[in-house]
Amino acid sequence: MTATKNILVIGGGVAGIQASLDLADKGINVYLVEREPSIGGIMALLDKTFPTNDCSICILAPKMNECFANPNIRILTNSELISLEGEAPDFRATIVKKARFVDEKKCTGCGDCTQKCPVKVPNKYNMNLDKRKAIYLPFPQSVPRIMTIDKERCLKFTKDKCGNCIKVCKAGAIDYEQNDEKIVLDVGAVIVASGFEIYNPSDMFEYGYGKYSNVKTAMEYERLICASGPTGGHLVVEPGGERPKRLGFIQCVGSRDLSRKNPYCSSVCCMHATKEAMLAKEHYDDIETYIFFLDLRAVGKNFQQYVDRAKKDYGIKYLRARPGRIMENEEKGTLTIWYDDLIDPHIQSIDVDMVVLCTALMPSSTAPKMGEILGIELDEYGFFCAKDPLANPVCSTKKGIFIAGYCAGPKDIPESVAEASGASARASEVIAQSGGGDVP
Ligand SMILES: Cc1cc2nc3c(=O)[nH]c(=O)nc-3n(C[C@H](O)[C@H](O)[C@H](O)COP(=O)(O)OP(=O)(O)OC[C@H]3O[C@@H](n4cnc5c(N)ncnc54)[C@H](O)[C@@H]3O)c2cc1C
Ligand code: SF4
Ligand code: SF4
Repeated sequence: MTATKNILVIGGGVAGIQASLDLADKGINVYLVEREPSIGGIMALLDKTFPTNDCSICILAPKMNECFANPNIRILTNSELISLEGEAPDFRATIVKKARFVDEKKCTGCGDCTQKCPVKVPNKYNMNLDKRKAIYLPFPQSVPRIMTIDKERCLKFTKDKCGNCIKVCKAGAIDYEQNDEKIVLDVGAVIVASGFEIYNPSDMFEYGYGKYSNVKTAMEYERLICASGPTGGHLVVEPGGERPKRLGFIQCVGSRDLSRKNPYCSSVCCMHATKEAMLAKEHYDDIETYIFFLDLRAVGKNFQQYVDRAKKDYGIKYLRARPGRIMENEEKGTLTIWYDDLIDPHIQSIDVDMVVLCTALMPSSTAPKMGEILGIELDEYGFFCAKDPLANPVCSTKKGIFIAGYCAGPKDIPESVAEASGASARASEVIAQSGGGDVP
C-alpha cells in the first residue's frame, strides 16, 4: 500500500472548516471541497449565535481566513465530488471544479466589475430579499474573495452582448473561455460535513408563506436583522418598508410533523427563536415578541438560563400552542394568528405585524447521491448514519470515511464543532495507522 498523507473534507461550513483546521495543525494536507463559490455555510449568514449572542461572522470569519492562509489547506470552491475509488488509506477522489469565468490567481476582489454589470438577479445569500449582479461575491466576508460569473444570467453568455466586466477589470481576471476542471486527488481518508437544507413552508397553506409578504422564515429574519444583510440590519417587512411593532415566532414548522416526512426535532429552532426575539428587543425597545411552541427544548449548557433571561429581562412571551391558521387583516395590514392554547385550552387570536416561521432543517436533497458515491449509509430520515451512534458517532458505515455536523443529524454550532474535531482526530488515525494497524 502506498498510503497518502492527504485528507479530503467535503463541505466548507463551520464543521468542515473546523475539521480542516484541526488536521492542518497536525501537519496533514487537506483538500476542502465546497460546492458554493465561498466557504462559510449557514453560520456565515447568521446574525448572532445563541446562547451568548456573539456575532456569528465575527467568530467564523477568522477561521475562514485561517483556512485560506494555511499552507496545509487547499480550498476548492465551486467544486463537488463525482467519484471515489479504492479503500482507506488509499482512496482516489475525482472532483469537478465548475468554471467561475474569473481567474482565481488574478482577481483582487476590487469590485469594479460588479459595479459596471447591468444585470440584477435575486440574491440567494440574502434569501432573495434583495438583488445581486451577474458577476458577484456571495457575501462581503466571502472566502476566497474572488468574483464568480453567473453563466445563466450573464449577457455575454445569454446574448453575446455587454462585456463590461472584461473592459473594466484592470487585473485581466475575466475569462469567458474558462472550462470546468476535473481534479483527481489521492487521499487517505474523507470527512463528510455537507450540512443541511431549510424546509420551504410554501405548502403549509395555513401559514400563508409566499402569500403574505410579512410572513418570513427564520433564515430570512436572520438576514433582515443582520448588519450585512439586505436592509443593513433594520427590521422591516420589505426593504424601505415599515418596521413591525409586534412579532410572532412559530416553532416546529415542518418539524415533528409526520405529514411533512420530518418527524424529528430540528434541535436548534427553540433556541434560535429565543435569540431572534431577543435581538428584536435589542434593536427596538418598544417591540412585542411572542413565541408559539409545543415543548421548549432548551437542553444545552446554559440554555435554560438563556430562556429565563429572555422572559425576565426581555419580556418575551412564550405561548404553548401550535397555531392553526394565520389570516391577513387587510384594513390594518396586520396578521391574525389563530391558536388553541394548550395551557388554557380555547381558541384564541393575537394580531402581529410580522410572523417568523421557524422551519424544519432537513438532510440535503443531494445526500443520497453522495452516499452512493462514497458507499456510506443514510438513516431513515436521510442523514448520514454512524456505524455505532453511541460508541463511534463520527465513523460512517465505511472505513476511512467520517461524518460531522448537521449532515449527520440535527445539531447546533458547538456540537458541530465538537463533532468535527472528533472526526478529524479519527481521520488522522487512518493516516497514522496507514503503515499497519486497524483503520477506523
Ligand atoms: C435560522 C437558523 C438560525 C440558527 N442559529 C443558530 C445559533 O444561533 N447558534 C447555533 O449554535 N446554531 C444555529 N443554527 C444551526 C447552525 O446553522 C448549524 O448547527 C450549523 O450551520 C451546522 O454546520 P455544518 O457545517 O454542519 O453545516 P452547514 O452550515 O450547512 O455547512 C455545510 C456546507 O457544505 C456545503 N455542501 C453541501 N453539499 C455539498 C457537496 N455535495 N459538496 C461540497 N460542499 C457541499 C454547503 O454549501 C455548506 O457550505 C441556526 C440555523 C438556522 C437555520
Ligand atoms: S474580476 Fe477584476 S474587476 Fe472584478 S473584482 Fe476581480 S479584479 Fe476586480
Ligand atoms: S459580461 Fe456578464 S458579468 Fe460581465 S458585466 Fe456584462 S452581464 Fe455582467
